[in-house]
Formats: sequence, C-alpha cells, structure tokens
Amino acid sequence: MMALLDIKGLKTHFTTDDGIVQAVDGVDISINRGETLCVVGESGCGKTVTAMSILKLIAMPPGKIVAGEIMFEGRDLAPLTSHQLDDIRAKEIGFIFQEPMTSLNPVLTIGEQIAESLRRHEAVTRKQALERTIEMLQLVQIPNAAGRVHHYPHQFSGGMRQRVMIAMALACRPKLVIADEPTTALDVTIQAQILDLLQDMKERLGMAVMLITHAMGVVAETAQRVVVMYAGKVVEEAPVDELFGNPSHPYTQGLIRSIPRIDLDAEHKTRLEAIGGSVPILINPPPGCRFASRCKHAMSICTEQEPRLREIAPGHRMACHLGDAS
Ligand code: SF4
Repeated sequence: MMALLDIKGLKTHFTTDDGIVQAVDGVDISINRGETLCVVGESGCGKTVTAMSILKLIAMPPGKIVAGEIMFEGRDLAPLTSHQLDDIRAKEIGFIFQEPMTSLNPVLTIGEQIAESLRRHEAVTRKQALERTIEMLQLVQIPNAAGRVHHYPHQFSGGMRQRVMIAMALACRPKLVIADEPTTALDVTIQAQILDLLQDMKERLGMAVMLITHAMGVVAETAQRVVVMYAGKVVEEAPVDELFGNPSHPYTQGLIRSIPRIDLDAEHKTRLEAIGGSVPILINPPPGCRFASRCKHAMSICTEQEPRLREIAPGHRMACHLGDAS
C-alpha cells in the first residue's frame, strides 16, 4: 500500500554566521492514511524542522531543503515553491502550530479567518462558508459557536484558541494534519482535552495525524506508530506497543526511563533518570553516532562509523551499533 506521505533522505540545512547547521540530515518518515504517527525527541532534534519542511513553512533563506523527496500521494512536494504549495496547504495538509496567538490574525474575527481559508480552497458562497465555520466550531466544542464566530482571537482563552486553530486546520477536511507540540503552551488539564479532541476529530474525519512532541506520555496515549529523532536523524521507529515494550536504542530507553510512573507501588518505584549531556551542535556534527557523547554503551566504532537504520523486528527499525552483526 502506498504511504500517504513518504519522506526520503530529507536534508534541511540553515546557513548561519558560524556555519551550516545540519538541522535535518537524511530523514526517512512515512505516514499511512488514517494513521497517528508521533515524532518525538528533545529540543533541537529536528522534529519541528522536518514537519515545517513538508509545507515549506521554514524561512528560506536561511533554511534550505538541500536533498531528499517529500512524496505526498505520489507527488514530490520538495521542489515546489511556497506559492505552488498554497493549493496543498490547508486543503490537503493542515498544520496546527504550538502557539495559536502567533498564528491567528489578531485583527480578523476567527469566523473571517476560517471562512477565508474555506473560500480560498473551495467554491463556497460567503453564507455557506459562515455555516461551515460555525459547524467546525461546534465540532471542536466551542460553546455558542454562532455567537463566538464574530469574536477576535484575544477574546478566547489559550485552550479555546487552540480549539479554533484545530477548527481552522481541519475546515477543508485535509487528508493529513501536522500538529507541532499543539499543547505545549497549555496547562495539563487543557492539554488532555485538546489531545482527546484531536483524536476524536481524526476518527470522525478519517485523516492521518503527524504529532510532533517531546513528551513520551503524550506518545503513549496518542500514537499508533512512533519515530524517535535525535540530532537531525531518525534513531528508532516502531509501532507504539513495540517501542514501549522493547525500546532498543539507548536514547529511546533514556526517554522512557524519564517518564514518571504512577502505576507502580512504592516498592517498585525507581528514580527517574535524566539523560546526561546535551544534543551536539549541528555545525560540523561529530562523525559516527551523534549520541555517542551521552551513551553509556558507546564503543570505539560508535565515534568512527555512523550507524545505519536497520530492521530489528517487523516494522521496528533502529540506528545503533549494538547487536549489529553486519
Ligand atoms: Fe550508543 Fe554506539 Fe548505539 Fe550510538 S551507536 S547509541 S553510541 S551504542
């Protein structure tokens, strides 16, 4: 079955005064129709740049896609200009940003903003666009949607604004929604509501979701499949149960050990472990494995030879020299 989105060998680099930052460096990620894929990793691992590269939402320059293909329904998006991607954005691929206040236009009502997106991509009258907008606001559970449609972004709370962003991203019924840390700016109870809403909308509308997050708890709750990124590379990929049941890359193991457990009694509770050190600077990154300076299993080969991503079980791939017989 052809994947809905199939990214191969993606490299997105940034030119800075200090040199070229290899923020995304040879990433392969695919998403099937109707699937929820979580891309996880700490700040600076390249997950957001990967997501934003798909729709050319990074500033170019200084950013540039220097290699790779981004096949969406068989069409390569990588060579398209930002202008050419206008037909794909919102209509085929929706994007939900971290902080809605910076993505919503403060001088337009939310109704005008959602309706504008609809009218740009579909042959609907002003009245039909307004009706569809109210319907979308009801779907994302905005109370009194018919009245709130005339309100401005600053008249909504943070959680309600994120619901508006979801309504806007889904208004044209895209086949794929990319959500970049959609709950980071919200408090914990609202975070859970927004994630539930996203799952509910995914099921109602039958779309695929690519969820970018740094939180393994969110991954466990949400994902069907998981891609773990580190320093601009994919280091592990597996179905969610397999990843949590059999985490194989030392970095993934460290991420999982850092999740608080409330299901264990006091006798079985262990100390939470942080992963020591920090992500390497991606201007002239170290040769070999980029995790080597933080890895307690590092061997001499690790600083000499880059580990390749290899299959260790059906659908489970990792890039590490541990157990590599080849
Ligand atoms: Fe650790 Fe080596 Fe595996 Fe990298 S390749 S994660 S340094 S064991």
